[in-house]
Amino acid sequence: MLVKIRDRVFSGKRVSRDEALELFKSDDIFSLGALASSVAEKKNGKKVSFIRNRHVTPTNICVNRCRFCAFSRSKGEEGAFELTLEEILKRIRALNSHLKTISEVHIVGGLHPDWPFEYYLEMLLEIKRKFPEIHIKAFTAVEVDYMSRISGLSLEETFIVLKKHGLDLMPGGGAEIFDSRIRSRLCPEKISGERWLKVIETAHRSGIKTNATMLYGHIENYEHRVEHLFRLRELQDITGGFQAFIPLSYHPKGTEIGGFYSSGIDDLKTIAVSRIVLDNFPHITAYWIMLGEKISQLALHFGASDLSGTVIEEKITHSAGALSGESMTPEQLIYLIKRAGKIPVERDSFYRKVKSEK
Ligand code: SF4
Repeated sequence: MLVKIRDRVFSGKRVSRDEALELFKSDDIFSLGALASSVAEKKNGKKVSFIRNRHVTPTNICVNRCRFCAFSRSKGEEGAFELTLEEILKRIRALNSHLKTISEVHIVGGLHPDWPFEYYLEMLLEIKRKFPEIHIKAFTAVEVDYMSRISGLSLEETFIVLKKHGLDLMPGGGAEIFDSRIRSRLCPEKISGERWLKVIETAHRSGIKTNATMLYGHIENYEHRVEHLFRLRELQDITGGFQAFIPLSYHPKGTEIGGFYSSGIDDLKTIAVSRIVLDNFPHITAYWIMLGEKISQLALHFGASDLSGTVIEEKITHSAGALSGESMTPEQLIYLIKRAGKIPVERDSFYRKVKSEK
């Protein structure tokens, strides 16, 4: 079967849902990796990108309390935090000594019950004013939907205002798994998969590029993953606004649904199948915070062409027991990429080359 699918892929044909399912079910992990790798090399050669970025999490207080999320807290609960604007700016200013500069700040957090829309706007405005050279990648579709509700603005209007205040692009979180039955068990309070796609489509139509994610390895099965990937591929055919797909491996520690960490084989398989199915996505990212440094490096031979970034101070996955560090230096990222036999390319938020490493 894999040979048949390989021939189809090599002849430029798209894989069907059934074929994507076959790929997930295959135990021939090396052939799968080789096929995904050849797709990735056709798009990006041996180049693997990374960015100097920094994560900022303004609050973990969230009205949703998703059952897979070990990061969120209710207001007043032990461990709850909410940053002032000055604290957010201080975090961006306090770059690690080994990083001369960052080119992107990545901001996602909980849905705070009391913060007005204006607080998010002030946040964007002040960051842009103080750090005009830094791109702001902020807010998941879930957060933007929440802002639209608290402000009373339509999605289109919300994006116009966010852009005006400095939003450059969006990450791809909050997608989890689109299937409504799984979603109702994972995160009953969260917006539906349909709504997530609607918010992202509106972002793309408003000129805001985004990424896309999929949380896997919890209570879903391969059929749910395939359907999720196909919904993304269909939207990308329409808007072309996705830059990268980032599979997110489930971390069970401290979550309500519990269970196990995803396996290394499943991680690599998911990267590979994503690369083959999402033929209209420029990049598949190996998010080393979730996959760990070593599986991420292996993922570069399973279709990944991006290694995310330096990150610095990751809160969300570490709340659920991430085994990786909280930051990597550009030198460490370059080392991992080179030792995988690939060519490191430092990029900006829009995947434009900043610097190639020899
Ligand atoms: Fe809130 Fe996001 Fe955690 Fe859900 S996953 S509880 S929306 S912070």
